[in-house]
Amino acid sequence: MRGKSGVKRSKGPGGMGDTGSGMYRKNQEIELEITDLGTEGEGIGRTDAFLWFIRNTVPGDRVRATVMKVKKNYGYARLQKVLRPSENRISPPCPVALTCGGCTLQMMNYEAQLRIKEQTLRNNLLRIGGLDLTHVSVHPIIGMEFPFRYRNKAQLPVGSDGDGLPVAGFYAGGSHRIIPCADCLISVKENGPLRDAVLSWMKRNQILPYQETTGEGFVRHILIRKGFCSGEMMVCLVTNAEEARHGALQELAEVLMQFPAVTTVVQNINTERSNVILGKRTKILVGPGVIHDRIGEVEFALSAQSFYQVNPIQTRKLYETALHYANLSGTELVWDLYCGIGTISLFLAKKAKAVRGVEIVPQAIADAKRNAARNGIDNAVFFVGKAEEILPREYGRTGERADVIVVDPPRKGCDERCLRTMREMEPKRIVYVSCDSATLARDLKYLMADGGYVLTDVQPVDMFPQTGHVETVVLLQKVN
Ligand code: SAH
Repeated sequence: MRGKSGVKRSKGPGGMGDTGSGMYRKNQEIELEITDLGTEGEGIGRTDAFLWFIRNTVPGDRVRATVMKVKKNYGYARLQKVLRPSENRISPPCPVALTCGGCTLQMMNYEAQLRIKEQTLRNNLLRIGGLDLTHVSVHPIIGMEFPFRYRNKAQLPVGSDGDGLPVAGFYAGGSHRIIPCADCLISVKENGPLRDAVLSWMKRNQILPYQETTGEGFVRHILIRKGFCSGEMMVCLVTNAEEARHGALQELAEVLMQFPAVTTVVQNINTERSNVILGKRTKILVGPGVIHDRIGEVEFALSAQSFYQVNPIQTRKLYETALHYANLSGTELVWDLYCGIGTISLFLAKKAKAVRGVEIVPQAIADAKRNAARNGIDNAVFFVGKAEEILPREYGRTGERADVIVVDPPRKGCDERCLRTMREMEPKRIVYVSCDSATLARDLKYLMADGGYVLTDVQPVDMFPQTGHVETVVLLQKVN
Protein backbone atom coordinates (compact mmCIF):
# COMPACT_ATOMS: atom_id res chain seq x y z
CA MET A 1 0.00 0.00 0.00
CA ARG A 2 1.60 3.26 -1.01
CA GLY A 3 0.35 6.63 0.06
CA LYS A 4 0.82 9.94 -1.74
CA SER A 5 4.37 10.20 -0.50
CA GLY A 6 5.41 6.90 -2.06
CA VAL A 7 6.37 5.53 1.33
CA LYS A 8 5.24 2.06 2.23
CA ARG A 9 2.70 2.59 5.01
CA SER A 10 0.75 -0.47 6.04
CA LYS A 11 2.19 -3.87 5.55
CA GLY A 12 -0.07 -5.85 3.25
CA PRO A 13 0.21 -9.63 3.56
CA GLY A 14 2.63 -9.80 0.61
CA GLY A 15 3.41 -12.90 -1.40
CA MET A 16 -0.16 -14.17 -1.09
CA GLY A 17 -0.81 -14.27 -4.83
CA ASP A 18 -3.91 -12.79 -6.41
CA THR A 19 -6.13 -13.49 -3.41
CA GLY A 20 -8.35 -10.40 -3.45
CA SER A 21 -9.80 -10.41 -6.91
CA GLY A 22 -10.41 -14.16 -6.59
CA MET A 23 -12.08 -14.12 -3.18
CA TYR A 24 -14.08 -10.89 -3.16
CA ARG A 25 -16.38 -9.20 -5.63
CA LYS A 26 -18.08 -5.83 -5.79
CA ASN A 27 -21.20 -5.37 -3.62
CA GLN A 28 -20.37 -8.43 -1.52
CA GLU A 29 -21.04 -8.01 2.21
CA ILE A 30 -18.21 -8.44 4.67
CA GLU A 31 -18.07 -8.34 8.47
CA LEU A 32 -14.94 -7.32 10.26
CA GLU A 33 -13.27 -5.59 13.17
CA ILE A 34 -11.58 -2.20 12.59
CA THR A 35 -8.09 -2.26 14.07
CA ASP A 36 -6.16 0.67 12.59
CA LEU A 37 -6.48 4.10 11.10
CA GLY A 38 -5.26 4.99 7.59
CA THR A 39 -3.48 8.18 6.55
CA GLU A 40 -6.73 9.83 5.43
CA GLY A 41 -8.46 8.98 8.72
CA GLU A 42 -10.28 5.97 7.31
CA GLY A 43 -10.61 2.79 9.39
CA ILE A 44 -8.58 -0.28 8.47
CA GLY A 45 -9.56 -3.89 9.20
CA ARG A 46 -8.79 -7.37 7.92
CA THR A 47 -10.62 -10.40 6.69
CA ASP A 48 -8.00 -13.16 6.88
CA ALA A 49 -4.88 -11.62 5.37
CA PHE A 50 -6.86 -9.15 3.27
CA LEU A 51 -6.80 -5.46 4.22
CA TRP A 52 -9.89 -3.20 3.96
CA PHE A 53 -10.14 0.60 4.02
CA ILE A 54 -13.54 1.81 5.27
CA ARG A 55 -14.40 5.47 5.79
CA ASN A 56 -16.36 6.61 8.85
CA THR A 57 -15.25 3.71 11.01
CA VAL A 58 -13.31 3.83 14.26
CA PRO A 59 -10.70 1.35 15.52
CA GLY A 60 -12.54 -1.00 17.85
CA ASP A 61 -15.77 -0.98 15.79
CA ARG A 62 -17.17 -4.26 14.52
CA VAL A 63 -18.88 -3.42 11.22
CA ARG A 64 -20.74 -4.79 8.25
CA ALA A 65 -19.59 -3.24 4.98
CA THR A 66 -20.14 -3.53 1.24
CA VAL A 67 -17.19 -4.19 -1.05
CA MET A 68 -16.59 -1.30 -3.46
CA LYS A 69 -13.21 -1.97 -5.03
CA VAL A 70 -10.83 -4.92 -4.82
CA LYS A 71 -7.07 -4.74 -5.44
CA LYS A 72 -4.45 -7.44 -5.13
CA ASN A 73 -4.29 -7.68 -1.34
CA TYR A 74 -6.38 -4.76 -0.16
CA GLY A 75 -9.71 -3.18 -0.99
CA TYR A 76 -12.20 -0.42 -0.24
CA ALA A 77 -15.60 -1.01 1.30
CA ARG A 78 -18.54 1.19 2.31
CA LEU A 79 -19.82 1.14 5.87
CA GLN A 80 -23.28 -0.39 6.04
CA LYS A 81 -23.83 -0.85 9.74
CA VAL A 82 -21.86 -0.58 12.94
CA LEU A 83 -22.58 -3.95 14.59
CA ARG A 84 -20.71 -3.16 17.80
CA PRO A 85 -19.40 0.37 18.34
CA SER A 86 -15.89 1.01 19.60
CA GLU A 87 -15.80 2.37 23.16
CA ASN A 88 -14.23 5.48 21.60
CA ARG A 89 -17.07 6.09 19.15
CA ILE A 90 -19.15 9.20 19.81
CA SER A 91 -21.94 10.77 17.86
CA PRO A 92 -20.18 13.51 15.84
CA PRO A 93 -21.17 17.05 16.87
CA CYS A 94 -21.29 18.27 13.25
CA PRO A 95 -24.40 17.22 11.28
CA VAL A 96 -22.45 16.72 8.04
CA ALA A 97 -19.46 14.92 9.60
CA LEU A 98 -20.13 11.72 7.68
CA THR A 99 -20.53 13.28 4.23
CA CYS A 100 -18.12 16.21 4.31
CA GLY A 101 -14.57 15.18 3.50
CA GLY A 102 -12.98 17.34 6.21
CA CYS A 103 -13.29 15.92 9.73
CA THR A 104 -12.61 12.23 9.24
CA LEU A 105 -12.12 11.59 12.98
CA GLN A 106 -15.13 13.43 14.39
CA MET A 107 -16.86 10.22 15.42
CA MET A 108 -13.97 9.42 17.74
CA ASN A 109 -13.61 11.06 21.15
CA TYR A 110 -10.72 13.53 21.33
CA GLU A 111 -8.62 11.52 23.80
CA ALA A 112 -8.79 8.53 21.43
CA GLN A 113 -7.84 10.74 18.46
CA LEU A 114 -4.73 11.83 20.33
CA ARG A 115 -3.79 8.26 21.31
CA ILE A 116 -4.20 7.01 17.75
CA LYS A 117 -2.02 9.81 16.37
CA GLU A 118 0.73 8.92 18.85
CA GLN A 119 0.39 5.30 17.79
CA THR A 120 0.60 6.13 14.07
CA LEU A 121 3.74 8.18 14.66
CA ARG A 122 5.38 5.48 16.77
CA ASN A 123 4.51 2.75 14.24
CA ASN A 124 5.97 4.73 11.36
CA LEU A 125 9.19 5.51 13.23
CA LEU A 126 9.57 1.83 14.10
CA ARG A 127 8.46 0.22 10.84
CA ILE A 128 9.50 2.69 8.16
CA GLY A 129 12.39 4.32 9.97
CA GLY A 130 13.59 1.09 11.57
CA LEU A 131 14.43 3.25 14.60
CA ASP A 132 15.15 2.05 18.09
CA LEU A 133 13.14 4.31 20.38
CA THR A 134 14.44 2.95 23.69
CA HIS A 135 16.63 5.97 24.42
CA VAL A 136 14.48 8.56 22.65
CA SER A 137 12.18 10.88 24.60
CA VAL A 138 8.91 10.42 22.74
CA HIS A 139 6.76 13.06 24.45
CA PRO A 140 2.97 12.83 24.74
CA ILE A 141 1.19 14.69 21.95
CA ILE A 142 0.29 18.32 22.68
CA GLY A 143 -3.48 18.46 22.14
CA MET A 144 -5.92 21.36 22.24
CA GLU A 145 -7.97 22.29 25.27
CA PHE A 146 -10.94 22.98 22.98
CA PRO A 147 -10.39 21.03 19.74
CA PHE A 148 -12.88 23.00 17.61
CA ARG A 149 -13.07 26.51 16.04
CA TYR A 150 -9.31 26.49 15.45
CA ARG A 151 -9.03 27.17 11.71
CA ASN A 152 -8.10 30.72 10.72
CA LYS A 153 -8.90 30.10 7.05
CA ALA A 154 -11.84 28.63 5.12
CA GLN A 155 -12.03 28.11 1.38
CA LEU A 156 -15.63 27.45 0.43
CA PRO A 157 -16.37 26.21 -3.08
CA VAL A 158 -19.49 27.81 -4.60
CA GLY A 159 -21.91 25.83 -6.79
CA SER A 160 -25.65 25.39 -7.38
CA ASP A 161 -28.20 23.24 -5.58
CA GLY A 162 -30.92 21.17 -7.31
CA ASP A 163 -33.00 24.33 -7.93
CA GLY A 164 -30.11 26.21 -9.47
CA LEU A 165 -29.64 28.43 -6.40
CA PRO A 166 -26.11 29.22 -5.24
CA VAL A 167 -24.66 27.17 -2.36
CA ALA A 168 -21.28 27.16 -0.65
CA GLY A 169 -19.82 24.51 1.60
CA PHE A 170 -17.25 21.76 1.49
CA TYR A 171 -16.49 19.00 -0.94
CA ALA A 172 -17.77 15.54 -0.04
CA GLY A 173 -14.83 13.19 0.59
CA GLY A 174 -13.04 12.22 -2.63
CA SER A 175 -15.40 14.24 -4.88
CA HIS A 176 -16.34 17.72 -6.07
CA ARG A 177 -19.94 17.51 -4.88
CA ILE A 178 -20.60 20.48 -2.58
CA ILE A 179 -22.04 19.70 0.85
CA PRO A 180 -23.65 22.85 2.24
CA CYS A 181 -22.75 23.33 5.87
CA ALA A 182 -24.49 25.89 8.06
CA ASP A 183 -21.68 26.18 10.57
CA CYS A 184 -18.38 24.32 10.21
CA LEU A 185 -17.31 23.47 13.76
CA ILE A 186 -13.57 23.62 13.16
CA SER A 187 -13.87 27.07 11.57
CA VAL A 188 -14.66 30.40 13.23
CA LYS A 189 -18.28 31.34 13.90
CA GLU A 190 -18.15 34.47 11.75
CA ASN A 191 -17.78 32.44 8.53
CA GLY A 192 -21.45 31.36 8.30
CA PRO A 193 -22.98 34.87 8.24
CA LEU A 194 -20.27 36.11 5.84
CA ARG A 195 -20.94 33.23 3.44
CA ASP A 196 -24.69 33.90 3.64
CA ALA A 197 -24.11 37.55 2.83
CA VAL A 198 -22.19 36.56 -0.31
CA LEU A 199 -24.88 34.06 -1.37
CA SER A 200 -27.69 36.66 -0.85
CA TRP A 201 -25.73 39.18 -2.89
CA MET A 202 -25.42 36.60 -5.69
CA LYS A 203 -29.18 35.92 -5.64
CA ARG A 204 -30.05 39.62 -5.52
CA ASN A 205 -27.83 40.42 -8.50
CA GLN A 206 -28.43 37.15 -10.33
CA ILE A 207 -24.76 36.35 -10.25
CA LEU A 208 -24.10 32.74 -11.16
CA PRO A 209 -21.83 30.25 -9.46
CA TYR A 210 -18.97 28.86 -11.50
CA GLN A 211 -19.59 25.46 -13.09
CA GLU A 212 -16.57 23.19 -13.25
CA THR A 213 -18.03 21.18 -16.14
CA THR A 214 -18.67 24.11 -18.50
CA GLY A 215 -16.24 26.71 -17.19
CA GLU A 216 -19.13 29.24 -17.06
CA GLY A 217 -20.44 31.32 -14.17
CA PHE A 218 -18.74 33.93 -11.99
CA VAL A 219 -18.13 33.00 -8.34
CA ARG A 220 -15.73 30.09 -7.77
CA HIS A 221 -14.76 30.21 -4.10
CA ILE A 222 -15.23 32.30 -0.99
CA LEU A 223 -12.00 32.51 0.98
CA ILE A 224 -12.24 33.83 4.52
CA ARG A 225 -9.26 34.50 6.72
CA LYS A 226 -9.01 35.70 10.32
CA GLY A 227 -6.07 36.97 12.34
CA PHE A 228 -6.73 35.42 15.74
CA CYS A 229 -4.57 37.96 17.58
CA SER A 230 -5.83 41.08 15.80
CA GLY A 231 -9.41 39.90 15.25
CA GLU A 232 -9.14 41.25 11.68
CA MET A 233 -10.93 39.35 8.91
CA MET A 234 -10.51 39.26 5.14
CA VAL A 235 -13.04 38.02 2.62
CA CYS A 236 -11.66 37.11 -0.79
CA LEU A 237 -14.08 36.36 -3.60
CA VAL A 238 -12.48 34.10 -6.21
CA THR A 239 -14.07 34.83 -9.56
CA ASN A 240 -13.88 33.55 -13.10
CA ALA A 241 -13.76 37.06 -14.66
CA GLU A 242 -13.09 40.70 -13.75
CA GLU A 243 -16.66 41.88 -13.24
CA ALA A 244 -20.12 40.25 -13.27
CA ARG A 245 -22.04 43.46 -13.77
CA HIS A 246 -21.08 47.05 -13.23
CA GLY A 247 -20.88 48.06 -9.58
CA ALA A 248 -21.87 44.67 -8.19
CA LEU A 249 -18.50 43.92 -6.57
CA GLN A 250 -18.40 47.32 -4.93
CA GLU A 251 -21.86 46.63 -3.50
CA LEU A 252 -20.59 43.31 -2.10
CA ALA A 253 -17.59 45.00 -0.52
CA GLU A 254 -19.89 47.52 1.19
CA VAL A 255 -22.19 44.78 2.47
CA LEU A 256 -19.28 42.79 3.90
CA MET A 257 -17.67 45.82 5.55
CA GLN A 258 -20.85 46.16 7.65
CA PHE A 259 -19.59 43.14 9.64
CA PRO A 260 -17.49 44.57 12.48
CA ALA A 261 -14.67 42.00 12.12
CA VAL A 262 -14.16 42.49 8.37
CA THR A 263 -11.33 44.91 7.66
CA THR A 264 -10.66 44.18 4.01
CA VAL A 265 -12.39 42.64 0.98
CA VAL A 266 -10.44 41.48 -2.04
CA GLN A 267 -11.15 39.76 -5.35
CA ASN A 268 -8.96 37.09 -6.85
CA ILE A 269 -9.35 36.36 -10.54
CA ASN A 270 -8.88 32.77 -11.64
CA THR A 271 -9.81 32.00 -15.24
CA GLU A 272 -7.95 28.67 -15.35
CA ARG A 273 -9.98 25.49 -15.72
CA SER A 274 -8.19 23.64 -12.94
CA ASN A 275 -8.57 22.59 -9.31
CA VAL A 276 -6.20 25.28 -8.10
CA ILE A 277 -8.27 27.66 -5.99
CA LEU A 278 -6.47 30.98 -6.40
CA GLY A 279 -5.47 32.70 -9.61
CA LYS A 280 -2.39 34.89 -9.96
CA ARG A 281 -4.07 38.30 -9.68
CA THR A 282 -5.74 39.83 -6.63
CA LYS A 283 -7.57 43.18 -6.63
CA ILE A 284 -8.29 45.07 -3.45
CA LEU A 285 -11.97 46.09 -3.28
CA VAL A 286 -11.77 47.81 0.10
CA GLY A 287 -9.30 48.09 2.99
CA PRO A 288 -5.55 47.37 3.03
CA GLY A 289 -5.72 43.97 1.27
CA VAL A 290 -3.96 42.28 4.20
CA ILE A 291 -4.85 41.25 7.73
CA HIS A 292 -2.44 40.92 10.64
CA ASP A 293 -1.59 38.20 13.09
CA ARG A 294 1.10 37.55 15.66
CA ILE A 295 2.92 34.39 16.70
CA GLY A 296 4.78 35.00 19.93
CA GLU A 297 6.55 38.34 19.44
CA VAL A 298 6.53 38.34 15.66
CA GLU A 299 3.83 40.14 13.68
CA PHE A 300 2.78 39.09 10.19
CA ALA A 301 0.80 40.75 7.42
CA LEU A 302 -1.14 38.17 5.41
CA SER A 303 -2.54 38.62 1.94
CA ALA A 304 -5.07 36.30 0.30
CA GLN A 305 -2.27 34.24 -1.23
CA SER A 306 0.10 33.97 1.73
CA PHE A 307 0.71 30.49 3.05
CA TYR A 308 0.07 30.51 6.77
CA GLN A 309 -0.45 27.70 9.27
CA VAL A 310 -4.20 27.22 9.75
CA ASN A 311 -4.21 26.58 13.50
CA PRO A 312 -2.53 29.58 15.15
CA ILE A 313 -3.04 28.30 18.71
CA GLN A 314 -1.11 25.09 18.06
CA THR A 315 1.36 26.78 15.68
CA ARG A 316 2.71 28.75 18.58
CA LYS A 317 3.30 25.54 20.57
CA LEU A 318 4.89 23.93 17.52
CA TYR A 319 7.28 26.82 16.94
CA GLU A 320 8.11 27.08 20.62
CA THR A 321 9.10 23.42 20.58
CA ALA A 322 11.23 24.02 17.47
CA LEU A 323 12.87 27.01 19.17
CA HIS A 324 13.51 24.98 22.34
CA TYR A 325 15.11 22.18 20.28
CA ALA A 326 17.21 24.69 18.30
CA ASN A 327 18.65 25.74 21.71
CA LEU A 328 19.97 29.08 20.45
CA SER A 329 22.36 31.29 22.42
CA GLY A 330 22.73 34.13 19.92
CA THR A 331 25.89 32.95 18.16
CA GLU A 332 24.39 30.42 15.74
CA LEU A 333 24.00 30.35 11.99
CA VAL A 334 20.60 28.76 11.32
CA TRP A 335 19.15 27.51 8.03
CA ASP A 336 15.35 27.31 7.82
CA LEU A 337 14.49 25.14 4.81
CA TYR A 338 10.95 25.15 3.34
CA CYS A 339 10.40 28.42 5.18
CA GLY A 340 7.10 29.61 3.60
CA ILE A 341 6.57 33.27 4.56
CA GLY A 342 9.43 32.97 7.04
CA THR A 343 7.35 32.32 10.13
CA ILE A 344 9.85 29.95 11.75
CA SER A 345 12.85 31.95 10.46
CA LEU A 346 11.61 35.15 12.07
CA PHE A 347 10.62 33.32 15.24
CA LEU A 348 14.23 32.04 15.51
CA ALA A 349 16.02 35.15 14.20
CA LYS A 350 15.71 37.07 17.47
CA LYS A 351 17.68 34.36 19.28
CA ALA A 352 20.27 33.53 16.57
CA LYS A 353 23.22 35.32 14.97
CA ALA A 354 21.86 34.84 11.47
CA VAL A 355 19.06 32.95 9.75
CA ARG A 356 18.87 31.85 6.11
CA GLY A 357 15.48 30.82 4.80
CA VAL A 358 14.78 28.85 1.61
CA GLU A 359 11.40 28.54 -0.09
CA ILE A 360 10.27 27.58 -3.59
CA VAL A 361 7.36 30.05 -3.91
CA PRO A 362 8.61 33.57 -4.83
CA GLN A 363 5.55 35.42 -3.38
CA ALA A 364 6.11 33.69 -0.04
CA ILE A 365 9.70 34.96 0.03
CA ALA A 366 8.45 38.46 -0.83
CA ASP A 367 6.12 38.15 2.21
CA ALA A 368 9.00 36.84 4.34
CA LYS A 369 11.16 39.87 3.50
CA ARG A 370 8.32 42.29 4.19
CA ASN A 371 7.59 40.59 7.50
CA ALA A 372 11.26 40.72 8.49
CA ALA A 373 11.33 44.46 7.80
CA ARG A 374 8.03 44.97 9.62
CA ASN A 375 9.54 43.40 12.75
CA GLY A 376 12.88 45.17 12.46
CA ILE A 377 14.67 41.84 11.92
CA ASP A 378 17.84 42.41 9.90
CA ASN A 379 19.71 39.14 10.43
CA ALA A 380 17.50 36.97 8.18
CA VAL A 381 18.26 36.40 4.50
CA PHE A 382 15.86 34.59 2.17
CA PHE A 383 16.46 32.57 -0.98
CA VAL A 384 13.89 31.60 -3.61
CA GLY A 385 14.42 28.08 -4.91
CA LYS A 386 14.39 24.42 -4.09
CA ALA A 387 16.02 23.50 -0.80
CA GLU A 388 17.81 20.64 -2.57
CA GLU A 389 19.39 23.10 -5.00
CA ILE A 390 19.98 26.21 -2.89
CA LEU A 391 21.57 24.45 0.10
CA PRO A 392 24.24 22.50 -1.90
CA ARG A 393 24.91 25.59 -4.03
CA GLU A 394 25.42 27.92 -1.07
CA TYR A 395 27.45 25.37 0.89
CA GLY A 396 29.60 24.73 -2.21
CA ARG A 397 30.09 28.46 -2.73
CA THR A 398 30.89 29.51 0.85
CA GLY A 399 31.94 26.27 2.57
CA GLU A 400 30.15 27.68 5.59
CA ARG A 401 28.71 25.12 8.01
CA ALA A 402 25.44 25.61 9.83
CA ASP A 403 25.01 25.34 13.59
CA VAL A 404 21.35 24.45 13.38
CA ILE A 405 19.22 23.37 10.41
CA VAL A 406 15.44 23.47 10.65
CA VAL A 407 13.35 21.77 7.94
CA ASP A 408 9.57 21.88 7.50
CA PRO A 409 8.90 20.13 4.19
CA PRO A 410 5.52 19.34 2.59
CA ARG A 411 4.07 15.84 2.96
CA LYS A 412 6.47 14.24 0.52
CA GLY A 413 9.37 15.03 2.83
CA CYS A 414 12.89 16.14 1.87
CA ASP A 415 14.72 15.42 -1.35
CA GLU A 416 17.75 13.16 -0.85
CA ARG A 417 20.11 15.86 -2.18
CA CYS A 418 18.89 18.16 0.55
CA LEU A 419 19.40 15.52 3.25
CA ARG A 420 22.88 14.66 1.95
CA THR A 421 24.00 18.30 2.10
CA MET A 422 22.53 18.67 5.58
CA ARG A 423 24.71 15.79 6.74
CA GLU A 424 27.78 17.23 5.01
CA MET A 425 27.26 20.59 6.70
CA GLU A 426 27.45 18.84 10.09
CA PRO A 427 25.12 21.09 12.10
CA LYS A 428 25.09 20.45 15.83
CA ARG A 429 21.34 20.11 15.77
CA ILE A 430 18.73 19.30 13.15
CA VAL A 431 15.14 20.20 13.96
CA TYR A 432 12.72 18.42 11.63
CA VAL A 433 9.11 19.68 11.57
CA SER A 434 6.94 17.16 9.74
CA CYS A 435 3.32 16.93 8.60
CA ASP A 436 3.67 13.29 7.53
CA SER A 437 5.25 10.82 9.90
CA ALA A 438 5.87 8.23 7.16
CA THR A 439 8.22 10.50 5.20
CA LEU A 440 9.66 11.81 8.47
CA ALA A 441 10.63 8.24 9.40
CA ARG A 442 12.17 7.64 5.97
CA ASP A 443 14.21 10.87 6.15
CA LEU A 444 15.38 10.21 9.73
CA LYS A 445 16.65 6.82 8.66
CA TYR A 446 18.74 8.52 5.98
CA LEU A 447 20.05 11.26 8.27
CA MET A 448 21.03 8.75 10.96
CA ALA A 449 22.43 6.09 8.61
CA ASP A 450 26.15 6.69 9.21
CA GLY A 451 25.81 7.13 12.97
CA GLY A 452 26.60 10.86 12.82
CA TYR A 453 23.30 11.85 14.41
CA VAL A 454 21.12 10.52 17.19
CA LEU A 455 17.45 11.13 17.64
CA THR A 456 16.86 12.49 21.13
CA ASP A 457 13.36 14.00 21.18
CA VAL A 458 10.07 13.47 19.39
CA GLN A 459 7.18 15.87 20.05
CA PRO A 460 3.87 15.39 18.23
CA VAL A 461 1.56 18.44 18.19
CA ASP A 462 -2.10 18.15 17.23
CA MET A 463 -2.41 20.87 14.62
CA PHE A 464 -5.53 19.42 12.98
CA PRO A 465 -7.99 18.04 15.58
CA GLN A 466 -10.88 15.98 14.11
CA THR A 467 -8.73 15.05 11.10
CA GLY A 468 -6.20 12.25 10.65
CA HIS A 469 -3.15 14.50 10.17
CA VAL A 470 -0.22 14.19 12.54
CA GLU A 471 2.33 16.99 12.96
CA THR A 472 5.65 16.25 14.69
CA VAL A 473 8.83 18.09 15.69
CA VAL A 474 11.95 16.03 16.30
CA LEU A 475 15.47 16.84 17.45
CA LEU A 476 18.55 15.16 16.01
CA GLN A 477 21.87 15.84 17.70
CA LYS A 478 25.33 15.40 16.28
CA VAL A 479 27.43 12.68 17.88
CA ASN A 480 30.85 14.03 18.86
N1 SAH B 1 7.74 26.61 7.56
C1 SAH B 1 6.59 27.25 7.00
C2 SAH B 1 5.99 26.54 5.77
C3 SAH B 1 5.90 25.05 5.81
S1 SAH B 1 4.94 24.35 4.50
C4 SAH B 1 5.55 27.50 8.06
O1 SAH B 1 5.60 26.93 9.15
O2 SAH B 1 4.63 28.29 7.83
C5 SAH B 1 6.15 23.77 3.39
C6 SAH B 1 6.69 24.83 2.45
O3 SAH B 1 7.67 24.22 1.60
C7 SAH B 1 5.66 25.45 1.51
O4 SAH B 1 5.72 26.85 1.67
C8 SAH B 1 6.15 25.03 0.11
O5 SAH B 1 5.90 26.02 -0.86
C9 SAH B 1 7.61 24.81 0.31
N2 SAH B 1 8.32 23.89 -0.61
C10 SAH B 1 7.83 22.80 -1.22
N3 SAH B 1 8.80 22.14 -1.87
C11 SAH B 1 9.94 22.84 -1.67
C12 SAH B 1 11.31 22.65 -2.08
N4 SAH B 1 11.67 21.62 -2.83
N5 SAH B 1 12.23 23.53 -1.65
C13 SAH B 1 11.87 24.60 -0.87
N6 SAH B 1 10.59 24.82 -0.47
C14 SAH B 1 9.64 23.95 -0.86
